[in-house]
Amino acid sequence: MKMTLQVVIEDEDHHTPPMVKEVFSLERRSENFCPETLGLSLDEAKDVLAEIQTTLVTTQAARFLEQHSFCPDCRMPYPKNGAHQITFRTLFGTIKLTSQRFYTCSCAQAKARRQGQKQISVSPLANLLPERTAPEFTHLQTKWAAIMSYGCTANLLEEIRINLSHEPAWDRPGVDRYWASCDGS
Ligand SMILES: [Zn+2]
Repeated sequence: MKMTLQVVIEDEDHHTPPMVKEVFSLERRSENFCPETLGLSLDEAKDVLAEIQTTLVTTQAARFLEQHSFCPDCRMPYPKNGAHQITFRTLFGTIKLTSQRFYTCSCAQAKARRQGQKQISVSPLANLLPERTAPEFTHLQTKWAAIMSYGCTANLLEEIRINLSHEPAWDRPGVDRYWASCDGS
């Protein structure tokens, strides 16, 4: 048998057709039926979560950019001014997002001048995500780092999804003092 998991995303306005995306599929052969193949394995569950998370986060980011691609006052679309990738870390995977930069309109620039600022371009997504890390992820890192070593915490977090070997969030001052060894590292 083959099981396929689809995600259906519908916008609130219902003006656009729902987006349907296949995120995961697996096959189980009936002759291999045994306790190990009954249900999802941990690796399969992690893949499912990562795919759903990536689909949700990238869609939310795209919708957010659409809603912030024009001036809220004069409704003028902002001209595009390049894009770059930002990395957003979540408990269920690290996701690359395209962050579009826009030139602002003349009324937004005049408004900024009145507030003593000089703003000719804006990156809505980069401004929304200054930490580049989901608060729940940061909370769990800090909580676990307070009670066990880096090696133990990295191993434990790897069990649920993520590989921390290149995670710069761990380089923060105050976190490494907890990394006394429980695994000899
Ligand atoms: Zn405007």
